[in-house]
Amino acid sequence: MAKRPTIVRTVPALRRALSPFRRKAERIALVPTMGALHRGHLALVRQAQRRAGRVVVSIFINPTQFAPHEDFGSYPRRFETDIKALTPAKVDLVWAPSAAVMYPDGFATRLAPQGAAMAGLEDKFRPHFFGGVATVVAKLFTQVAPDFALFGEKDYQQLRVVTQMARDLDLPLKVIGVPTVREPDGLALSSRNLYLSAGERSAAPLLYRVLKASAARIKNGDKIEAVLDIGRREIDLAGFALDYLEARHALTLAPIAARKDGPIRLLVAAKIGKTRLIDNLGV
Ligand code: AMP
Repeated sequence: MAKRPTIVRTVPALRRALSPFRRKAERIALVPTMGALHRGHLALVRQAQRRAGRVVVSIFINPTQFAPHEDFGSYPRRFETDIKALTPAKVDLVWAPSAAVMYPDGFATRLAPQGAAMAGLEDKFRPHFFGGVATVVAKLFTQVAPDFALFGEKDYQQLRVVTQMARDLDLPLKVIGVPTVREPDGLALSSRNLYLSAGERSAAPLLYRVLKASAARIKNGDKIEAVLDIGRREIDLAGFALDYLEARHALTLAPIAARKDGPIRLLVAAKIGKTRLIDNLGV
């Protein structure tokens, strides 16, 4: 039977657990998560294993990236199930700090990422989000000091923000993006899919269908704004409350008017019932 990963809950315990790896100059890869693990997270773990001999998965539901009206209180917490899922995946270490360990009394520092973090996408609807993400990820990077950190393309703006943050702070690690893992009907796997009712779940794959159709039309030479207008209408008509459907430069996330200014990434966010879903696709 595979060995359960070692679980560490304090920074000194983490350092102690990592030190034998470092002594042997083994490469370390970090997969940051908020738990409620699914096949998307496990794809990140597999990619981590391809890069490094040792894999650390962090499980921390970061309170500072949720606004008061968001789902921090109800976010799925299933630590034991997560550990069971990580055991056959042969993860070495699970870093699971409490909020008090991550943010002890008197904690007073917050990063303020710019650039892709102010692209007018997720930041427009969740203004507190990337400050919280950048701060906690910078902490995870300094705590674990990995050689590689793996993030899903599913959260595309986050991937760009974290990549830039590591570069800007001269952190000696490589951030690697992993393609989105989907259900057979195209819905991107997400811990928040657990919130969907049966009816919402059957409507949800529309977002991916719109992304795919829009990418095909843009490749075909159709005008980007016209393509997006069609997509926005389809999403509205299907009963979603659309936050955005945008075409952006895949690296800077700056607005893009023509295909020649690419590479292009299409990004969408919409609510179905009470659940907010995001997805994206390269053109
Ligand atoms: P979360 O636990 O939702 O914060 O996600 C942790 C990491 O898993 C992030 O880097 C996400 O982008 C990534 N992730 C979430 N869903 C997927 C998916 N469907 N495919 C690939 N990566 C994912």
